[in-house]
Amino acid sequence: MKSVKWYGPYDLRVEEAEEPKIVKETDALVRPAYVGICGTDMHVYKGYLNIVPGDIIGHEFVGVVEKVGSHVRRFKEGDRVIVSCWIADGECWYCMKGFHTQCVNINIFGMGPVYGETYQGANAELVRVPYADTMLLKMPDDLSFEKALMISDGLPASYAGIVEAGLAPGDSVGIVGCGPIGLLAGMCAQSLGASQVIAIDLAETRLKVAKELGMITIDASKQNVGEEVRNLTDGRGVDLAVEAAGGGDVPLLTAIEITRKKGKISVIGFHVLDYSLPAGQLWLTEKRMSFSIGDPITHGPVLIELIRKGRLDPTRIYSHILSLEEAPKGFELVDKKKAIKAVVKIKP
Ligand SMILES: [Zn+2]
Repeated sequence: MKSVKWYGPYDLRVEEAEEPKIVKETDALVRPAYVGICGTDMHVYKGYLNIVPGDIIGHEFVGVVEKVGSHVRRFKEGDRVIVSCWIADGECWYCMKGFHTQCVNINIFGMGPVYGETYQGANAELVRVPYADTMLLKMPDDLSFEKALMISDGLPASYAGIVEAGLAPGDSVGIVGCGPIGLLAGMCAQSLGASQVIAIDLAETRLKVAKELGMITIDASKQNVGEEVRNLTDGRGVDLAVEAAGGGDVPLLTAIEITRKKGKISVIGFHVLDYSLPAGQLWLTEKRMSFSIGDPITHGPVLIELIRKGRLDPTRIYSHILSLEEAPKGFELVDKKKAIKAVVKIKP
């Protein structure tokens, strides 16, 4: 089968790979229809995670079930499915609570042995999916693969950043970092009752999309973010600030700054390094902070309905739709910030 393999930083190659097989009877094999190129993939692409040369990259995908193991009860060949990018066993204490991202057997596709066992990635014609009864979400017939794709990863991450932080009707929301996750978080806030969404970024291309989506934009490279936000919120700051940039303390400090006293700060950016926060200031102003990764298994059913009923359309942020052969180019475009969201279309 055709696949996209990682050989080193910035070195992806479209190559033949051996087709995966059912290893455990709880596995399914899925033929991807669409695969998203995600911000997290960029860390893998650059070699920051422990992917091994020759491994297949990619973790956000939807497709068709090709085959199931004998213990899979809920799915059969031909089912159209969303695959949770997070691998969870569905059986441990955390999974029973609905906290799949904290599963004792947590893993992810296409990142090498980052959590022990390697699960090959989704930029391929066939993918082995473990714990199929837990990991797969059945797609209604009226939902297209294209619209459903981001339920696999990016959309629940964004949605969690709004609902787990406790958005209240009428809240003003500030989004720090307007990549796909930030833009989708802004769209979730809009459809769940925010009074206004303020999008903050340094890149003109991203701010342009935010504006098209009905958000108020602040260009952090030209404007004073704190001052602009206070002007838009009667001098107080936003009720909920979502930090969706990750990577360091600057975006998070901005989110803290633009939040009103007793307001909420939601962290959904990708953070691996530790750094100190202004705990004294946070305590005095009684700001509440929450961290979310996003759980496709728990939040997928709600997101399916929001998309089906026209309340959310993730395809509005797609800037590039590419073939599997063009996938390496897609990674390059995302890395150079020339694409907002690039997706790989494998099957019609
Ligand atoms: Zn579990």
